[in-house]
Amino acid sequence: MPLLVMKFGGTSVADLSRIRNAAAKVRAEVARGYDVIVIVSAMSGKTNELVGWVNETSPLYDAREYDAVVSSGENVTAGLMALTLQEMDVPARSWQGWQGPIQTTSAHGAARFMDIPRTNLDAKFAEGFKVAVIAGFQGVSPEGRITTLGRGGSDTTAVAFAAAFDAERCDIYTDVDGIYTTDPRITSKARRLGKISFEEMLELASLGAKVLQTRSVELAMRYKVRLRVLSSFDETDETSGTLVCDEDEIMESRVVSGVAYSREEAKLTLVTVEDRPGIAAAIFGPLAEAGVNVDMIVQNISEAALGHDRPVTDMTFSCPVDQVARARRALEAAREAGQIRYEALAVDEDTAKVSVVGIGMRSHAGVAARMFTALADEGVNIKVIATSEIKISVLIDRKYMELAVQALHDAFELDKAG
Ligand code: ASP
Ligand code: MG
Repeated sequence: MPLLVMKFGGTSVADLSRIRNAAAKVRAEVARGYDVIVIVSAMSGKTNELVGWVNETSPLYDAREYDAVVSSGENVTAGLMALTLQEMDVPARSWQGWQGPIQTTSAHGAARFMDIPRTNLDAKFAEGFKVAVIAGFQGVSPEGRITTLGRGGSDTTAVAFAAAFDAERCDIYTDVDGIYTTDPRITSKARRLGKISFEEMLELASLGAKVLQTRSVELAMRYKVRLRVLSSFDETDETSGTLVCDEDEIMESRVVSGVAYSREEAKLTLVTVEDRPGIAAAIFGPLAEAGVNVDMIVQNISEAALGHDRPVTDMTFSCPVDQVARARRALEAAREAGQIRYEALAVDEDTAKVSVVGIGMRSHAGVAARMFTALADEGVNIKVIATSEIKISVLIDRKYMELAVQALHDAFELDKAG
């Protein structure tokens, strides 16, 4: 039997009627001849509520009990989904993580998959069950305790099952009808993409397009799981949504596929640090230990500045705004411990990051020039630039973020079909 994985996010299972709506989509695939593994999220808002209860009960909670509580939202939807399917005469059975067993590491709250054995589910399908409903976002540790995978983790559960069971495709049903060239709330010219490569999706996901958990895209890329993002609120067929796939499957080659942004960025500059081997390690080591997600890094040219007997440089980096306090503390501690010296720490908390992403950049010159010209034409000043093989990012004043996204969307003509 060909097998499909169908994942329904929180808004798609928000109440009983939506669960029925989702179940009808599952029934339709069973009627087409598929065995289906359904992955469900908690009803929307449920996980937030559970997390809130944990925090209120115990601010410095035991992560094992956090997982015991927050994993429960998915258990409810899994059982309800199985019951709904049964009411529709579709033989279905639900499974919690430990029953799989979905084996994960014991990193509670951020566990990673170790193994998804097929035996139990395969036996159920062989008995004639058509659908296995899996509670997403959870697993079981080697110690036998319930784990969760981190927020948004049901996407990753879905991809992991698709890989383990060689699914033909992994359909992610959500409240948007696909991946767009940029956020449609910022420009109405944003267009749904028919296909996008894993690499591009990975950049877009980690740059703040919140449709898929980044880890799920990494996993899909590693195991070549074809992922489709589509809306559970629409009538859907084979052509709906956006397919995230290997770049070989994408015929149309466009230079830039999308514009991503991340609104809450901060720019930090260490003024006059020593310019010597090991200085970057001495700065970014403590930041990493403090859990600061450093993104862009720029080191200025070194000079033997006035009053310094040895060469000095400035070191600039960006991180999310809510990590500034942590970064400051880590740097000050390193200075007090004599590991680094600097004259000042300049912090700009009013920046945003805007990026253009596209696999076509590998083979096309002039993308950066086009991007910078478009921003210059709008009078947007660039504070930091960073590039990768398929991405160019700039840090700019937050107040110009929407303008920059719109200008870049126009400059690369993303409103026109590839
Ligand atoms: N319910 C979990 C969350 O809200 C996992 C998920 O839905 O992907 O983060
Ligand atoms: Mg999600």
